[in-house]
Amino acid sequence: MTPSAACPRCRAGEVLAVLRVPHGWTNASGRPVRGVREVVLCARCDAGHPVAGPLVAYLIVHEEVEPAQLAGLAPLLRRWMDGARPSALDEHALRAEIEAWRRGDL
Ligand SMILES: [Zn+2]
Repeated sequence: MTPSAACPRCRAGEVLAVLRVPHGWTNASGRPVRGVREVVLCARCDAGHPVAGPLVAYLIVHEEVEPAQLAGLAPLLRRWMDGARPSALDEHALRAEIEAWRRGDL
């Protein structure tokens, strides 16, 4: 996913940043499965969040960040990254998408 795409949560907000987090689980045969999940920073969904909100405001005001501005961005980015966790898998939504795919709706 590239920034500026539509948010996968609200399907309307602008994606300002994407964090890729290592993710894994143990499958039914007991083997570890490793992958990466994305945490999206959305201009709409995250604007009021106590940790992500200041980063959203910063990125909206500063369309481009020059090297001289990194001192202002870095603490906001670090705080968001430290607290960002991928959302849990919504098995109901997954099953609904699989059924929609089978019907040819996707
Ligand atoms: Zn959103």
